[in-house]
Amino acid sequence: MSETEPLTYPLLPLAVACPRCGSGPRQYCTSHGGTRLRRSDVHQDRTRAYRAPLSTARTDDGGQER
Ligand SMILES: [Zn+2]
Repeated sequence: MSETEPLTYPLLPLAVACPRCGSGPRQYCTSHGGTRLRRSDVHQDRTRAYRAPLSTARTDDGGQER
């Protein structure tokens, strides 16, 4: 994969869209109605969405809904 920048741990979920704030793939999460970028982290929902394809294939995440 030859992307522009390598994503580091907290921002790995940028590869997917955020279900929380609606940011598209490789776009930062936003807070406060989209007025503020979250450059250093993402929403937990997004982290979960990023991991979701894995957990659906192998359901071993303990079923944590929150
Ligand atoms: Zn978000």
